[in-house]
Amino acid sequence: TRKIAVLTSGGDAAGMNAAVRAVAKMGLYRGCEVFIVREGWAGLVAGNVNAAPADVRPPPQRAGKYHGNQDVEGEKFAATFGEGELLQEGAGEGLKGRHILKVGWDDVRGWMDIGGTLIGTARCAEFREKEGRETAAFNLISLGIDALVVIGGDGSLTGADRLRGEWPSLLDDLEKSKRISAEQRSKHAHLTITGIVGSIDNDMAMTDITIGAPTALHRISEAVDSIGSTASSHSRAFVVEVMGRHCGWLAVMAGLACGADYIFIPERPPKSEDWESEMCNGLKSHREHGKRKTIVIVAEGALDRQLKPIKPAYVADILTKRLQLDTRVTTLGHVQRGGKPCAYDRLLATLQGVEAVEAVLDATPQTPSYMIGLKENKVKRVSLMDAVKATAGVGDAIEKKDFDQALQLRDPEFLE
Ligand code: ATP
Repeated sequence: TRKIAVLTSGGDAAGMNAAVRAVAKMGLYRGCEVFIVREGWAGLVAGNVNAAPADVRPPPQRAGKYHGNQDVEGEKFAATFGEGELLQEGAGEGLKGRHILKVGWDDVRGWMDIGGTLIGTARCAEFREKEGRETAAFNLISLGIDALVVIGGDGSLTGADRLRGEWPSLLDDLEKSKRISAEQRSKHAHLTITGIVGSIDNDMAMTDITIGAPTALHRISEAVDSIGSTASSHSRAFVVEVMGRHCGWLAVMAGLACGADYIFIPERPPKSEDWESEMCNGLKSHREHGKRKTIVIVAEGALDRQLKPIKPAYVADILTKRLQLDTRVTTLGHVQRGGKPCAYDRLLATLQGVEAVEAVLDATPQTPSYMIGLKENKVKRVSLMDAVKATAGVGDAIEKKDFDQALQLRDPEFLE
């Protein structure tokens, strides 16, 4: 029986719960044991150390920064939910200190349409250090877990890729320090890791779309529509900042969906050094053609050709001074992340969750770690390592001002 743990990490994205639900239900359906890890990588590093004694034996005292389920033998120390316990009021208190929990079918009931991530997410500095990853490995092994499904953005999947790459050396260290036995070492010689991309930015290479991006786009579109009606009424200009630190997908798609007048993104800075004049000429002509509103969308990571950030307040200032437009700035902020996932995100998360479990069950020591992507409307397994590398390459290419290369890496067909 495979023992699969699933976690959500990095920024939350609508549809993450649907993905956890799909992994849990498909895992159980296929005869696996399924564990959820609360609070992302941080939960995996923390383990169940401070959990209620009834569920988890307190670990022996140990010098050092991290504790896990040290010297705890096997699964009986994985806390198990009562039916639906995770969603009950006050459950947070009852779960204090327990981060790795075995789930049953009913625990994930009703999760499909809930926004955010119910199992929690966190940024985890410890996991960036080898010592933290070693404790995470120890916690997995001590619960007998041999497969990990990570739902998160590029950072979280980079972490997953590092864990995968380092696994043999982590085992060496754990065995040397006698935290695991030779028997445990050989039983856990391979950890199957599968990534599912949850990210509102749609910033992962080698997949067309990421879980949460369609919902965020929908939310932005509704917000810009609302802004549009007041803008038209007063004949105003609005500069709307949307999320996307390294990726302009939300800005471009929202711009198209809402008929914005101008868009700024990180990967494709304005062609002209004097983009201010270029923008003003364009917007002036829209006004001359009778438009009563002006909408400019700025991705939060938008850059000019010198890689200087393009800030909404500066854009608004230009519109006010040069075009004498009554201009306001709206930063959409976290409303973009929140709320119920749209139908497409639920479907994407469900299909990818199912495929992640299939990928775990098909895995052999020879198969690479997969990321579950979507290509031309088909759920596909791609190499996690290649996807992580290409995504990191996008940032590097932008830094080198090689903007075509940046777009090429994220989507080789995009430029055609
Ligand atoms: P978002 O798309 O919302 O930014 P993300 O998954 O990219 O999501 P990050 O904050 O970049 O979010 O990463 C989440 C966590 O993944 C980090 O807090 C850290 O624990 C782990 N992580 C990120 N990068 C690495 C890395 N290079 N090595 C090990 N762990 C990493």
